[in-house]
Amino acid sequence: MLDVGARLLAEANLPAEKLIGIGMGLPGPVEFATGRPTSPPIMPGWDGYDVPAHLRRTFDVPILVDNDVNTMVLGEHDMIYPEVSHMMFVKVATGIGASIISDGRLQHGALGAAGDIGHISASAESTKPCTCGSLGCLESVASGYAIAAQLRERGRDVPHHAALIDLVRAGDLEAMHLVRAAGRTVGSVLASCVNMLNPELIVIGVWWSRPESTFW
Ligand SMILES: [Zn+2]
Repeated sequence: MLDVGARLLAEANLPAEKLIGIGMGLPGPVEFATGRPTSPPIMPGWDGYDVPAHLRRTFDVPILVDNDVNTMVLGEHDMIYPEVSHMMFVKVATGIGASIISDGRLQHGALGAAGDIGHISASAESTKPCTCGSLGCLESVASGYAIAAQLRERGRDVPHHAALIDLVRAGDLEAMHLVRAAGRTVGSVLASCVNMLNPELIVIGVWWSRPESTFW
């Protein structure tokens, strides 16, 4: 990640002295006060790692680290829906996560895991183990990774979920059926969230990382 920071500065043709701060989103729960990941299921080696200190060795500026979906809701709220006080942002990608603005404030929860809907139980019948160790989590049955895996089990050549998107765009009935089923499962969990949180607005962001990305 230090390489990426240096590359971004170079692309903007800016010296490091011009940098006034860094904001970073990580795909897992983050203790916001310290910027340390908290038992992130897809980044097990990062548990408790002092990410701000790691960055500060190279970039001596204020550094804020949060869950990636929390950074998304802040951008969506500030730029598109500044008048909304109660909203959720849902990221559907390799994993599934959500962030919550309630009464105008981003909610982190006790351990930075508020909105971690990907690990809500969505299928009592599923025997698929989730990255968190449970069975039947929303993420393990309805994420892009899960759908691509279901197609591979049926003998289809779907090496990553970018290939899944290609199949859907081409009108592949089997792929479309699985994506629609996943959409219904996500919707069912969100319906429970509506009862719990009473948001004015839910924004769903579908984001697919590049196949060469570490986290696809
Ligand atoms: Zn899980």
